[in-house]
Amino acid sequence: MVERRFSRPRTKLVELLREKGVKDHRVLAAIGKIPRHTLIDTALHHKAYEDTALPIGMGQTISQPYTVAVQSELLEINPGDKILEVGTGSGYQCMVLCELGAEVYSVERHNELYHRAKEALRKQGYKAMLKSGDGTLGWSTYAPYDGIVVTAGAPVVPEDLIRQLNIGGKLVIPVGDSKKQMMLRITRVSETEYHQEELDDFKFVPLIGEKGWDG
Ligand code: SAM
Repeated sequence: MVERRFSRPRTKLVELLREKGVKDHRVLAAIGKIPRHTLIDTALHHKAYEDTALPIGMGQTISQPYTVAVQSELLEINPGDKILEVGTGSGYQCMVLCELGAEVYSVERHNELYHRAKEALRKQGYKAMLKSGDGTLGWSTYAPYDGIVVTAGAPVVPEDLIRQLNIGGKLVIPVGDSKKQMMLRITRVSETEYHQEELDDFKFVPLIGEKGWDG
């Protein structure tokens, strides 16, 4: 069976992420369950469980598993938390959030990727609310969120995302120039106060939109 062929490399990927410093066992367990190969072209299946970003069309990528693990850890999700993802892409991060028990909302600017991710999630039995549009504006209909994760590199922190956080909620977002971005975790401490942590450097595709980079 096709699925069995991938179980060993997937276990090895989880071991690698643990060695790289991912500690949250729930995040590791989630990554150990997601059939990442189903989200990429069959010609790339041999690389599905390598710790690397891979092309998914439209000039976009499925995020590196390590990056997905770090962003998921930083959100400190409790089951039932309402989480907004900006940049659905393949749906990989979205599936990890679902496995962590979150109620997931996700926005993707490429209509084709939105449709593909929606179908991929349905096929694997994951329930998430997806939308095609500009995620730099958040998704006000379902705000506030307990966590917001941005999976593309932003030039600045979009104000709308900050405003759509619950008190105690966390925004995890890479911010920087086109070469590298620093991962920020911004926690809404009160109605008007925020606490910002600056973490490691990463390299993402650009966040394109009204409050992001020009298209
Ligand atoms: N989370 C995705 C995954 O697991 O496959 C990562 C996909 S990729 C690194 C980032 C995605 O962000 C791309 O699909 C891109 O089209 C999308 N994106 C960029 N700017 C966006 C915006 N303003 N709103 C929504 N999606 C955006």
